[in-house]
Amino acid sequence: MELQDQVAIVTGASRGIGRATALRLAGAGARVVVNYAHQAGAAEEVVAAIEDGGGRAIAVPADVGDYQGAKKLIQTTIENFGRVDILVNNAGISRDNLIARLKPEDWDAVLRTNLTGVFNCCQAALKPMLRQRYGRIINLTSVVGLRGNAGQVNYAAAKAGVIGFTRALAKEVASRGILVNAVAPGFVTTDMTAALNETAREEFYRHIPLGRPGEPEEIAEVIFFLASPGARYITGQVLVVDGGLTLAL
Ligand code: NAP
Repeated sequence: MELQDQVAIVTGASRGIGRATALRLAGAGARVVVNYAHQAGAAEEVVAAIEDGGGRAIAVPADVGDYQGAKKLIQTTIENFGRVDILVNNAGISRDNLIARLKPEDWDAVLRTNLTGVFNCCQAALKPMLRQRYGRIINLTSVVGLRGNAGQVNYAAAKAGVIGFTRALAKEVASRGILVNAVAPGFVTTDMTAALNETAREEFYRHIPLGRPGEPEEIAEVIFFLASPGARYITGQVLVVDGGLTLAL
């Protein structure tokens, strides 16, 4: 129970990596805010799973890309649980296309959710964290933000932006007891990657030295580590969790 008495917000926790992270943090004793955008039923199911395991959680809808929405998410957390110790900026979308065919609205949507959403939630959460002189912020980036990927200029730009943001903020708040890190998954089995057809998927796996995609729980374990006391001397880092994929790219 390394996170006993702590309060964690996981954005985009109704599905995929966010869901696995909410369950992992709750399993370590944290009270968890399960944020989602649209899928209330899925978020309530995560809350129910946490409560069935003896934990505490609430589901809170908020579009992280909306400045006021993100502020409200943090306020609701404080109203219900009194503090914010851990913020996992996990909410993300993809709208892939080659640049010639990429619609401006798909550029905007990905930057808004994946990068502006991180700014919005961090700025709001930092107020209570600075007061507490304690906080752990973990941002989800991607190997695509490190290496690029054809057909994903919007996603790659947003995820590379998250890395710069993480390093800058880590320097800004280190003296106040707040640690800021990023996790860069490779290919993980979630709804986001489900759109790929079988042939594209098999082709991808061929490039992963471990020969298989990652599972959401394998990313959640690393996020948990960064939130835990064991990671107290780590800040401004990007932890790559990709089965070796970046070695092969
Ligand atoms: P996913 O299964 O598609 O789930 C996305 C989650 O984000 C859902 O809970 C969704 O809520 C929420 N969300 C979307 N837009 C939102 C918004 N504007 N405000 C609040 N919540 C929003 O995604 P995933 O694969 O688990 O990915 C999670 C994170 O890891 C993302 O940042 C992604 O870029 C990153 N990542 C994923 C992979 C991968 O292979 N899967 C690899 C590298 C990085 P609703 O259910 O309500 O729609």
